[in-house]
Amino acid sequence: MSGTNDLNDRDLFQRSLDRVRHAASHAHIDPETLVRLSLPRRVLEVAIPVRMDDGSLKVFRGYRVQYDDSRGPFKGGIRFHPSVDLAEVKSLALWMALKCAVVDIPFGGGKGGVEVDPRDLSHAEVERLARGYVRAIADVIGVDRDVPAPDVYTNARTMAWMADEYSTLMRRLEPGVITGKPVGRGGSLGRDDATARGGYYVLEEIGRQRNWQPAEIRVAIQGFGNAGQHAARLLHADGYRVVAVSDSRGGVYVPEGLDVPAMIAHKRDQRALPAVGTAITNEELLALDVDVLVPAALEDQLTAANAADVKAAVVVELANGPTTAEADRILHGKGTLVVPDVLANAGGVTVSWFEWLQNRSGSYWVLDEVHDKLRATMRQQFEIVHARMTADDIPMRDAAYAVALERLGAALTAGGTAADFQPRQAERQRVAAGAKG
Ligand code: GLU
Repeated sequence: MSGTNDLNDRDLFQRSLDRVRHAASHAHIDPETLVRLSLPRRVLEVAIPVRMDDGSLKVFRGYRVQYDDSRGPFKGGIRFHPSVDLAEVKSLALWMALKCAVVDIPFGGGKGGVEVDPRDLSHAEVERLARGYVRAIADVIGVDRDVPAPDVYTNARTMAWMADEYSTLMRRLEPGVITGKPVGRGGSLGRDDATARGGYYVLEEIGRQRNWQPAEIRVAIQGFGNAGQHAARLLHADGYRVVAVSDSRGGVYVPEGLDVPAMIAHKRDQRALPAVGTAITNEELLALDVDVLVPAALEDQLTAANAADVKAAVVVELANGPTTAEADRILHGKGTLVVPDVLANAGGVTVSWFEWLQNRSGSYWVLDEVHDKLRATMRQQFEIVHARMTADDIPMRDAAYAVALERLGAALTAGGTAADFQPRQAERQRVAAGAKG
């Protein structure tokens, strides 16, 4: 991560809250909405002891943060990554609350994480860690309380282990407690590529507005995990020119366009990108001469140090939090459209909601139904956010936050505000003064 002045002494969570407060000036909300959203409802830190394959014992640090559940059960993924810390999980949980409100699905915001590099662990060790994590947080999750899902370095198989562990603990099947499960184990068709597909549907709308011909649009994608790979595949299949991709070790650049299916096959079989075209760093990828830049890795990638170098006209944030506030200002000043994470990557949690609905009804949807409903949701909410951006002449992130804060505000205000208590006070004063009625 680059050491720039915008990644200052304020931690990621404080910086995330600053941006919510800033956007709130564009939202029509009771001021108490922000007061209520200034702290997560609950933070759980746990120790997860795991017996390693060599017989040794390791203890991993895990978290579950439940940010807000005024609109529905807490909802959000579980990240296994060496840089997981509390400030990060709190930010990710806050972003989930905003995200679920942006796409208007009946969930609140939560997030979990374990400080671990799962690439150093065997499958059996990851399974024991996943099951141990669920045992540690089982008291606070539940189909109507808090519903985890995959995130960075966790996947459908991890979710299957977690859902199985939960059912074992509860001595009943409860598939809806975890989403992102494998199909055949209560998962939904279309959940695997839903994060990328949601962003792709948004990009379709932008392409329509800008009269894009896909063959002329050059795309660079930072990150080649679930979101990045599926985004590359969908865009490539649609005729877009995906010219660069990268993973944590660096990237490759082919100006004429990459053979995306071959890249995906190589990454799957060799766990690495093939050495094609020009080798580039992650930093160089962000500054490539492209039309669309898709950060699909981690937070704080576009910063004050490199935002001015971005040449893309549109940035689609498939990662959570890839752009700092200072980078946002620089990009906005240059006329770059940044489609914010809370909208661009909301397809994942939207299909998680579909999965939860299917688990609870016991009836399962065909793939076309998932795609149609996801496209309808993404289009509708994109239109709302886009209209807000245009009407108020503000960055798209502020517009998305404003829409989300108004929806969250409506739910929080319904629980009672200062205004509801003042008449009672007036009443008491009247009674004390001996007035009638
Ligand atoms: N981890 C994904 C996200 O950041 C999906 C969350 C979910 O499906 O609950 O949006």
